[in-house]
Amino acid sequence: MRDGILVINAGSSSIKFSLYVSEAGDGITLSSKGQVEGIHVAPHFEAKDPSGRKIEDKVWDHGDRLSHEVLLEFLIRWVEEHLDGATLRAAGHRVVHGGTRYAKPMLVADGLLDELEALVPLAPLHQPHNLAPIRALQAVHPGLAQVACFDTAFHRTSPRVAEIFGLPRQLTAEGVRRYGFHGLSYEYVSGRLREVAPAVGAGRVVIAHLGSGASMCAVKDGKSVASTMGFTALDGLMMGTRTGNLDPGVVLYLMQQKGMSGKQIEDLLYKQSGLLGVSGISNDMRVLLDSDDPHAAEAVELFVYRIARELGSLAAALGGLDALVFTAGIGERSAVIRERVCALAEWLGVKLDPQANQRNDLAIGAADARVPVFVVPTDEELMIARHTREVLDRQL
Ligand code: ADP
Repeated sequence: MRDGILVINAGSSSIKFSLYVSEAGDGITLSSKGQVEGIHVAPHFEAKDPSGRKIEDKVWDHGDRLSHEVLLEFLIRWVEEHLDGATLRAAGHRVVHGGTRYAKPMLVADGLLDELEALVPLAPLHQPHNLAPIRALQAVHPGLAQVACFDTAFHRTSPRVAEIFGLPRQLTAEGVRRYGFHGLSYEYVSGRLREVAPAVGAGRVVIAHLGSGASMCAVKDGKSVASTMGFTALDGLMMGTRTGNLDPGVVLYLMQQKGMSGKQIEDLLYKQSGLLGVSGISNDMRVLLDSDDPHAAEAVELFVYRIARELGSLAAALGGLDALVFTAGIGERSAVIRERVCALAEWLGVKLDPQANQRNDLAIGAADARVPVFVVPTDEELMIARHTREVLDRQL
């Protein structure tokens, strides 16, 4: 029997999906993937087969009036018509926050959604959009098993000292602590590293997830021990439009001296800062690397510098460094950013093989370097599909 597993990653303006087919005793294979983008403005649905060939492309008249629910219903119907003989058995969702309680994926049952809803104040820009499709699917497909996979879960192995802030204990007890994010990506990449380089993968590894959101994680023997993202996904590295690490005194200044509201500060820190804010040009790394503007160059320099600084900090948390791994859009594709980060990390024993780096090879370190460097493409969707199948198998 062939089972269909639908993976959903929903944000404020888009719903991404991947449809996998799984056979008993066999692996999981991608059958199609796509997204609805431009929700509430001009929704656009697109689906591709595993080779990247477009198999569906749809826009709606008056699409701005269509709700998330209506678009999700369309997506489910589309998926059911493209199961290719498989039976839709479950949906796996990326859920940004599992709080301190959920250190592994959970089958959605009574009560869980209410608990996850209570975490909305900790991730107001993401959590509501992650939960909405779970509720919508319950309405249109009441019998379908659903699994919530958390971006925070992988980090729950970190020691307490890596998780608490220097705040009064009461606030820590209330949940004002570091959670860490991008966990599904780190779990996948760390698992892949253990497959391709088992000895290294069992050691002290720093993984740099450099996409439009960016963070780094220190992994020891496959377990997260520290990460750059904290209470929210705003901390750590400078990102496409987010500040990353910032003196909290800046926030006080913005409030007290400039009279900015919470909403205005949120907008500044999440949407107008980072590569976009420093360059004044774009949040897209490709645009900045192609630009001659000195502000673009400064934004790139700061991006690289922050990664190198955090690498030193994470190596300290690990007590040394056995490997460095790059992943996500920039990490997987930008040889020049990897080269510049590695040049600042020579003191740690990192050295690149320039040709291998140019080719985006899996192993890009120089043969005589003490610390090997890898490029491991991430696959958060496959990680969710695997978790979903495992959770289902446990129910049998
Ligand atoms: P998301 O967090 O949205 O999933 P991605 O992992 O897809 O992001 O990464 C998006 C980022 O990757 C963008 O800043 C984009 O400019 C950058 N990127 C993609 N390809 C390249 C490339 N060849 N060189 C440099 N940056 C790239």
